[in-house]
Amino acid sequence: MQLERNTPWLLTPGPLTTSTATKTAMLSDWGSRDEEFITFNKRIQSRLIDCVGANDSHVCVLMQGSGTFAVEATLGTLIRPGDKALVLINGAYGHRIKKILDILGRQSVVLSTPEDVPAQISELAATLEGDPSISHVIAVHCETTTGILNPIEEISQVTAHHGCKLLIDAMSSFGALPLSAKDIIFDAVIASSNKCLEGVPGIGFTIVRKTTLIESKGNSPSLCLDLYDQWQAMEFNGQWRFTPPTHVIAAFDAALEQLILEGGQPARLKRYANNCRILVEGMTALGFETLLPEHLQAPIIITFKMPSDQNFDFEQFYALLKNKNYVIYPGKLTTAPTFRMGCIGQLSAEQMHGALTAVRQTLIEMNIKNGRPMAA
Ligand SMILES: *Cc1c(COP(=O)(O)O)cnc(C)c1O
Repeated sequence: MQLERNTPWLLTPGPLTTSTATKTAMLSDWGSRDEEFITFNKRIQSRLIDCVGANDSHVCVLMQGSGTFAVEATLGTLIRPGDKALVLINGAYGHRIKKILDILGRQSVVLSTPEDVPAQISELAATLEGDPSISHVIAVHCETTTGILNPIEEISQVTAHHGCKLLIDAMSSFGALPLSAKDIIFDAVIASSNKCLEGVPGIGFTIVRKTTLIESKGNSPSLCLDLYDQWQAMEFNGQWRFTPPTHVIAAFDAALEQLILEGGQPARLKRYANNCRILVEGMTALGFETLLPEHLQAPIIITFKMPSDQNFDFEQFYALLKNKNYVIYPGKLTTAPTFRMGCIGQLSAEQMHGALTAVRQTLIEMNIKNGRPMAA
Protein backbone atom coordinates (compact mmCIF):
# COMPACT_ATOMS: atom_id res chain seq x y z
CA MET A 1 0.00 0.00 0.00
CA GLN A 2 1.34 3.41 -0.96
CA LEU A 3 -0.75 5.64 1.23
CA GLU A 4 1.88 8.37 1.54
CA ARG A 5 2.47 8.75 -2.19
CA ASN A 6 1.41 12.08 -3.60
CA THR A 7 -0.03 13.07 -0.27
CA PRO A 8 1.39 16.49 0.55
CA TRP A 9 3.02 17.20 3.90
CA LEU A 10 0.76 19.51 5.88
CA LEU A 11 2.63 22.36 7.56
CA THR A 12 -0.66 23.70 8.90
CA PRO A 13 -2.45 24.03 12.26
CA GLY A 14 -4.72 21.06 11.42
CA PRO A 15 -5.96 18.88 9.94
CA LEU A 16 -2.44 17.49 9.90
CA THR A 17 -0.28 14.81 8.43
CA THR A 18 -1.14 11.51 10.12
CA SER A 19 0.84 8.29 10.27
CA THR A 20 0.14 5.24 8.12
CA ALA A 21 -0.87 3.33 11.27
CA THR A 22 -3.50 5.98 12.05
CA LYS A 23 -4.83 5.94 8.50
CA THR A 24 -4.98 2.15 8.29
CA ALA A 25 -6.94 2.00 11.56
CA MET A 26 -9.82 3.41 9.51
CA LEU A 27 -9.98 0.46 7.12
CA SER A 28 -12.45 -1.51 9.26
CA ASP A 29 -16.11 -0.83 9.80
CA TRP A 30 -17.45 -0.91 13.34
CA GLY A 31 -20.91 -1.39 14.75
CA SER A 32 -21.54 1.30 17.35
CA ARG A 33 -22.80 -1.22 19.92
CA ASP A 34 -19.92 -3.62 19.41
CA GLU A 35 -17.97 -4.41 22.58
CA GLU A 36 -14.62 -3.85 20.90
CA PHE A 37 -15.74 -0.46 19.66
CA ILE A 38 -17.00 0.49 23.12
CA THR A 39 -13.57 -0.44 24.44
CA PHE A 40 -11.98 2.11 22.07
CA ASN A 41 -14.11 4.86 23.57
CA LYS A 42 -13.29 3.96 27.15
CA ARG A 43 -9.59 3.71 26.39
CA ILE A 44 -9.58 7.06 24.58
CA GLN A 45 -11.32 8.76 27.50
CA SER A 46 -8.96 7.37 30.11
CA ARG A 47 -5.85 8.13 28.06
CA LEU A 48 -6.96 11.73 27.51
CA ILE A 49 -7.53 12.19 31.24
CA ASP A 50 -4.09 10.64 31.87
CA CYS A 51 -2.58 13.28 29.58
CA VAL A 52 -3.50 15.98 32.10
CA GLY A 53 -3.12 13.81 35.22
CA ALA A 54 -6.70 14.47 36.34
CA ASN A 55 -7.90 10.91 37.00
CA ASP A 56 -9.49 11.52 40.39
CA SER A 57 -11.17 14.84 39.77
CA HIS A 58 -12.18 15.08 36.11
CA VAL A 59 -14.04 13.15 33.43
CA CYS A 60 -13.61 13.17 29.66
CA VAL A 61 -16.58 13.88 27.41
CA LEU A 62 -16.20 13.16 23.70
CA MET A 63 -18.17 15.21 21.19
CA GLN A 64 -18.79 14.62 17.48
CA GLY A 65 -17.57 17.45 15.27
CA SER A 66 -14.60 19.77 15.03
CA GLY A 67 -13.03 21.47 18.03
CA THR A 68 -15.44 24.39 18.00
CA PHE A 69 -18.37 22.01 18.62
CA ALA A 70 -16.72 20.96 21.88
CA VAL A 71 -16.00 24.61 22.78
CA GLU A 72 -19.63 25.57 22.20
CA ALA A 73 -20.91 22.53 24.11
CA THR A 74 -18.64 23.32 27.04
CA LEU A 75 -19.55 27.02 27.23
CA GLY A 76 -23.28 26.36 26.84
CA THR A 77 -23.28 23.64 29.48
CA LEU A 78 -20.98 25.08 32.14
CA ILE A 79 -21.92 28.76 32.00
CA ARG A 80 -25.38 29.58 33.30
CA PRO A 81 -27.56 32.52 32.29
CA GLY A 82 -26.75 34.32 35.58
CA ASP A 83 -22.98 33.78 35.32
CA LYS A 84 -20.47 36.21 33.87
CA ALA A 85 -17.44 35.07 31.90
CA LEU A 86 -14.20 36.97 31.32
CA VAL A 87 -12.63 36.06 27.97
CA LEU A 88 -8.90 36.67 27.48
CA ILE A 89 -8.44 37.56 23.83
CA ASN A 90 -5.32 37.87 21.69
CA GLY A 91 -6.43 36.24 18.49
CA ALA A 92 -9.20 34.72 16.39
CA TYR A 93 -9.99 31.84 18.75
CA GLY A 94 -10.54 34.18 21.70
CA HIS A 95 -12.88 36.23 19.51
CA ARG A 96 -14.72 33.03 18.54
CA ILE A 97 -15.29 32.19 22.23
CA LYS A 98 -16.77 35.66 22.79
CA LYS A 99 -19.02 35.20 19.75
CA ILE A 100 -20.29 31.83 21.01
CA LEU A 101 -21.13 33.37 24.40
CA ASP A 102 -23.00 36.22 22.68
CA ILE A 103 -25.02 33.79 20.55
CA LEU A 104 -25.80 31.68 23.62
CA GLY A 105 -26.93 34.81 25.44
CA ARG A 106 -24.36 34.36 28.21
CA GLN A 107 -22.95 37.46 29.89
CA SER A 108 -19.31 38.15 29.19
CA VAL A 109 -16.61 40.78 29.30
CA VAL A 110 -13.28 40.69 27.51
CA LEU A 111 -9.70 41.52 28.30
CA SER A 112 -7.79 41.99 25.06
CA THR A 113 -4.13 42.31 24.22
CA PRO A 114 -2.63 42.75 20.73
CA GLU A 115 -2.07 39.53 18.77
CA ASP A 116 1.65 39.52 19.56
CA VAL A 117 1.22 40.17 23.29
CA PRO A 118 0.32 37.42 25.79
CA ALA A 119 -2.51 37.84 28.30
CA GLN A 120 -1.35 40.22 31.03
CA ILE A 121 -1.58 38.79 34.53
CA SER A 122 -1.69 42.12 36.36
CA GLU A 123 -4.63 43.26 34.20
CA LEU A 124 -6.40 39.96 34.81
CA ALA A 125 -5.94 40.35 38.56
CA ALA A 126 -7.19 43.95 38.47
CA THR A 127 -10.25 43.01 36.40
CA LEU A 128 -11.22 40.16 38.73
CA GLU A 129 -10.58 42.42 41.74
CA GLY A 130 -12.80 45.12 40.27
CA ASP A 131 -15.72 42.90 39.27
CA PRO A 132 -16.67 40.23 41.80
CA SER A 133 -19.60 39.15 39.61
CA ILE A 134 -17.19 37.43 37.19
CA SER A 135 -17.63 33.68 37.71
CA HIS A 136 -15.54 32.17 34.90
CA VAL A 137 -12.29 32.99 33.11
CA ILE A 138 -11.82 31.58 29.63
CA ALA A 139 -8.32 31.43 28.17
CA VAL A 140 -6.71 30.09 24.99
CA HIS A 141 -3.50 28.20 25.81
CA CYS A 142 -1.69 28.53 22.48
CA GLU A 143 -3.50 31.12 20.32
CA THR A 144 -3.12 29.48 16.91
CA THR A 145 -3.72 32.78 15.13
CA THR A 146 -0.06 33.62 15.70
CA GLY A 147 1.26 30.62 17.66
CA ILE A 148 1.65 32.72 20.80
CA LEU A 149 1.76 30.97 24.16
CA ASN A 150 -0.38 32.43 26.95
CA PRO A 151 0.87 32.10 30.57
CA ILE A 152 -1.69 29.50 31.59
CA GLU A 153 -0.17 28.65 34.96
CA GLU A 154 -0.24 32.28 36.16
CA ILE A 155 -3.72 32.72 34.68
CA SER A 156 -4.84 29.69 36.67
CA GLN A 157 -3.32 30.99 39.91
CA VAL A 158 -5.00 34.39 39.67
CA THR A 159 -8.31 32.85 38.58
CA ALA A 160 -8.32 30.37 41.47
CA HIS A 161 -7.28 33.10 43.92
CA HIS A 162 -10.45 35.00 43.02
CA GLY A 163 -12.64 31.91 43.31
CA CYS A 164 -13.45 31.79 39.60
CA LYS A 165 -13.62 28.74 37.38
CA LEU A 166 -11.07 28.44 34.56
CA LEU A 167 -11.99 27.01 31.14
CA ILE A 168 -9.05 26.47 28.78
CA ASP A 169 -9.14 26.17 25.00
CA ALA A 170 -6.07 23.96 24.62
CA MET A 171 -6.99 22.88 21.12
CA SER A 172 -3.59 23.44 19.51
CA SER A 173 -1.44 22.53 22.51
CA PHE A 174 -3.03 19.45 24.08
CA GLY A 175 -0.66 16.48 23.99
CA ALA A 176 2.40 18.56 23.14
CA LEU A 177 2.72 21.34 25.70
CA PRO A 178 2.71 20.50 29.41
CA LEU A 179 -0.73 20.96 30.96
CA SER A 180 -1.24 19.13 34.21
CA ALA A 181 -4.02 19.29 36.79
CA LYS A 182 -1.20 19.06 39.35
CA ASP A 183 0.05 22.56 38.43
CA ILE A 184 -3.00 24.17 36.90
CA ILE A 185 -6.41 24.43 38.51
CA PHE A 186 -9.03 24.18 35.79
CA ASP A 187 -12.67 23.21 35.45
CA ALA A 188 -12.45 22.40 31.77
CA VAL A 189 -9.78 21.81 29.14
CA ILE A 190 -11.05 21.56 25.58
CA ALA A 191 -9.18 20.03 22.62
CA SER A 192 -9.68 17.88 19.54
CA SER A 193 -8.48 14.72 17.83
CA ASN A 194 -6.61 16.27 14.92
CA LYS A 195 -3.97 18.63 16.25
CA CYS A 196 -1.06 17.60 18.46
CA LEU A 197 -2.74 14.25 19.18
CA GLU A 198 -2.30 13.47 15.47
CA GLY A 199 -5.65 11.78 14.92
CA VAL A 200 -7.96 12.56 12.01
CA PRO A 201 -10.55 15.34 12.35
CA GLY A 202 -14.03 14.63 13.68
CA ILE A 203 -13.93 14.60 17.49
CA GLY A 204 -13.66 17.35 20.06
CA PHE A 205 -13.44 16.59 23.76
CA THR A 206 -13.56 18.25 27.15
CA ILE A 207 -11.77 17.18 30.31
CA VAL A 208 -14.17 18.58 32.86
CA ARG A 209 -14.28 18.64 36.65
CA LYS A 210 -16.84 16.02 37.63
CA THR A 211 -18.52 18.06 40.37
CA THR A 212 -18.86 21.03 38.00
CA LEU A 213 -20.39 18.87 35.27
CA ILE A 214 -22.89 17.33 37.69
CA GLU A 215 -23.99 20.82 38.79
CA SER A 216 -24.50 21.75 35.12
CA LYS A 217 -27.35 19.38 34.39
CA GLY A 218 -30.07 21.07 32.36
CA ASN A 219 -28.05 24.21 31.57
CA SER A 220 -27.40 23.62 27.90
CA PRO A 221 -29.77 25.36 25.47
CA SER A 222 -28.82 22.75 22.83
CA LEU A 223 -29.82 19.14 22.32
CA CYS A 224 -26.67 18.00 20.48
CA LEU A 225 -24.17 20.22 22.26
CA ASP A 226 -25.13 19.25 25.79
CA LEU A 227 -21.97 18.14 27.53
CA TYR A 228 -23.86 16.77 30.53
CA ASP A 229 -26.25 14.63 28.50
CA GLN A 230 -23.44 13.41 26.27
CA TRP A 231 -21.52 12.32 29.39
CA GLN A 232 -24.52 10.72 31.09
CA ALA A 233 -25.49 8.72 28.03
CA MET A 234 -21.99 7.31 27.63
CA GLU A 235 -21.64 6.61 31.35
CA PHE A 236 -24.91 4.70 31.24
CA ASN A 237 -24.14 2.19 28.47
CA GLY A 238 -20.77 3.10 26.96
CA GLN A 239 -22.42 4.31 23.77
CA TRP A 240 -22.62 7.62 22.00
CA ARG A 241 -25.95 9.45 22.08
CA PHE A 242 -26.09 9.78 18.31
CA THR A 243 -24.24 8.07 15.44
CA PRO A 244 -20.56 8.02 16.43
CA PRO A 245 -17.77 8.81 13.94
CA THR A 246 -16.59 5.20 14.20
CA HIS A 247 -13.62 5.43 11.83
CA VAL A 248 -12.42 8.64 13.44
CA ILE A 249 -12.59 6.98 16.85
CA ALA A 250 -10.63 3.94 15.66
CA ALA A 251 -7.99 6.28 14.21
CA PHE A 252 -7.93 8.36 17.41
CA ASP A 253 -7.36 5.22 19.49
CA ALA A 254 -4.45 4.27 17.23
CA ALA A 255 -3.04 7.82 17.38
CA LEU A 256 -3.12 7.83 21.20
CA GLU A 257 -1.37 4.46 21.25
CA GLN A 258 1.39 6.03 19.13
CA LEU A 259 1.62 9.02 21.47
CA ILE A 260 2.36 6.64 24.34
CA LEU A 261 4.86 4.65 22.26
CA GLU A 262 6.63 7.87 21.28
CA GLY A 263 7.12 8.69 24.97
CA GLY A 264 4.04 10.81 25.71
CA GLN A 265 3.81 14.60 25.84
CA PRO A 266 7.50 15.27 26.66
CA ALA A 267 8.68 13.29 23.63
CA ARG A 268 6.13 14.92 21.35
CA LEU A 269 7.15 18.36 22.57
CA LYS A 270 10.78 17.50 21.90
CA ARG A 271 10.04 16.49 18.30
CA TYR A 272 7.90 19.57 17.67
CA ALA A 273 10.45 21.89 19.31
CA ASN A 274 13.14 20.44 17.08
CA ASN A 275 10.90 20.91 14.03
CA CYS A 276 10.25 24.50 15.05
CA ARG A 277 13.93 25.25 15.58
CA ILE A 278 14.92 23.82 12.17
CA LEU A 279 12.17 25.75 10.43
CA VAL A 280 12.86 29.09 12.14
CA GLU A 281 16.63 28.81 11.66
CA GLY A 282 16.25 27.82 8.00
CA MET A 283 13.69 30.50 7.17
CA THR A 284 15.71 33.14 9.02
CA ALA A 285 18.75 32.17 6.95
CA LEU A 286 16.61 32.88 3.84
CA GLY A 287 15.83 36.35 5.17
CA PHE A 288 12.34 35.67 6.58
CA GLU A 289 11.37 37.11 9.96
CA THR A 290 9.10 35.62 12.58
CA LEU A 291 6.33 37.78 14.00
CA LEU A 292 6.97 36.68 17.56
CA PRO A 293 10.16 36.79 19.61
CA GLU A 294 11.42 33.32 20.49
CA HIS A 295 10.25 33.36 24.13
CA LEU A 296 6.59 33.89 23.12
CA GLN A 297 6.63 31.33 20.30
CA ALA A 298 5.06 27.94 21.01
CA PRO A 299 6.53 25.11 18.87
CA ILE A 300 3.15 24.59 17.18
CA ILE A 301 2.77 27.07 14.34
CA ILE A 302 5.07 29.88 13.29
CA THR A 303 3.93 33.19 11.84
CA PHE A 304 6.28 34.79 9.29
CA LYS A 305 6.03 38.35 8.06
CA MET A 306 5.29 38.72 4.36
CA PRO A 307 8.48 39.45 2.34
CA SER A 308 8.77 42.94 0.88
CA ASP A 309 10.30 41.83 -2.45
CA GLN A 310 7.92 43.07 -5.14
CA ASN A 311 8.00 39.69 -6.89
CA PHE A 312 6.48 38.03 -3.84
CA ASP A 313 2.89 36.90 -4.24
CA PHE A 314 1.49 34.61 -1.54
CA GLU A 315 -0.91 32.68 -3.80
CA GLN A 316 1.91 31.84 -6.18
CA PHE A 317 4.31 31.02 -3.34
CA TYR A 318 1.66 28.68 -1.88
CA ALA A 319 0.98 26.97 -5.21
CA LEU A 320 4.67 26.42 -6.01
CA LEU A 321 5.23 24.90 -2.55
CA LYS A 322 2.16 22.71 -2.96
CA ASN A 323 3.62 21.46 -6.27
CA LYS A 324 6.62 20.35 -4.27
CA ASN A 325 4.33 18.54 -1.80
CA TYR A 326 4.37 21.05 1.06
CA VAL A 327 1.18 22.78 2.16
CA ILE A 328 1.52 25.98 4.20
CA TYR A 329 -1.12 28.27 5.67
CA PRO A 330 -2.22 31.85 5.12
CA GLY A 331 -1.99 34.38 7.93
CA LYS A 332 -4.96 35.19 10.13
CA LEU A 333 -3.78 38.52 11.51
CA THR A 334 -5.83 41.66 11.52
CA THR A 335 -2.77 43.88 11.84
CA ALA A 336 0.14 42.71 9.68
CA PRO A 337 0.41 40.70 6.42
CA THR A 338 1.79 37.28 7.36
CA PHE A 339 1.73 33.60 6.51
CA ARG A 340 2.11 30.57 8.74
CA MET A 341 3.98 27.28 8.77
CA GLY A 342 3.05 24.55 11.22
CA CYS A 343 5.51 22.15 12.80
CA ILE A 344 3.04 19.67 14.31
CA GLY A 345 1.58 16.44 12.99
CA GLN A 346 3.47 13.35 11.88
CA LEU A 347 6.45 15.38 10.71
CA SER A 348 10.06 15.38 11.79
CA ALA A 349 13.41 16.91 10.88
CA GLU A 350 13.38 15.31 7.43
CA GLN A 351 10.16 17.09 6.40
CA MET A 352 11.35 20.39 7.87
CA HIS A 353 14.55 20.24 5.82
CA GLY A 354 12.46 19.22 2.80
CA ALA A 355 10.16 22.19 3.28
CA LEU A 356 13.15 24.54 3.53
CA THR A 357 14.58 23.16 0.30
CA ALA A 358 11.20 23.71 -1.35
CA VAL A 359 11.04 27.31 -0.07
CA ARG A 360 14.60 27.98 -1.32
CA GLN A 361 13.75 26.62 -4.80
CA THR A 362 10.48 28.55 -4.86
CA LEU A 363 12.23 31.84 -4.10
CA ILE A 364 14.55 31.20 -7.06
CA GLU A 365 11.60 30.34 -9.32
CA MET A 366 9.83 33.54 -8.29
CA ASN A 367 12.99 35.58 -8.73
CA ILE A 368 12.98 36.73 -5.12
CA LYS A 369 16.30 37.65 -3.56
CA ASN A 370 15.32 36.88 0.00
CA GLY A 371 12.39 36.74 2.41
CA ARG A 372 13.15 39.98 4.21
CA PRO A 373 9.98 41.83 5.23
CA MET A 374 9.34 45.55 5.05
CA ALA A 375 11.14 47.38 7.85
CA ALA A 376 8.64 48.09 10.63
C1 LIG B 1 -8.19 24.64 15.86
C2 LIG B 1 -8.60 25.45 17.04
C3 LIG B 1 -9.94 25.49 17.49
C4 LIG B 1 -11.06 24.71 16.86
O1 LIG B 1 -11.15 24.82 15.51
P1 LIG B 1 -12.00 23.79 14.66
O2 LIG B 1 -11.77 24.30 13.28
O3 LIG B 1 -13.40 23.88 15.08
O4 LIG B 1 -11.44 22.41 14.90
C5 LIG B 1 -10.22 26.23 18.62
N1 LIG B 1 -9.26 26.90 19.28
C6 LIG B 1 -7.97 26.87 18.89
C7 LIG B 1 -6.95 27.60 19.70
C8 LIG B 1 -7.60 26.15 17.75
O5 LIG B 1 -6.31 26.12 17.36
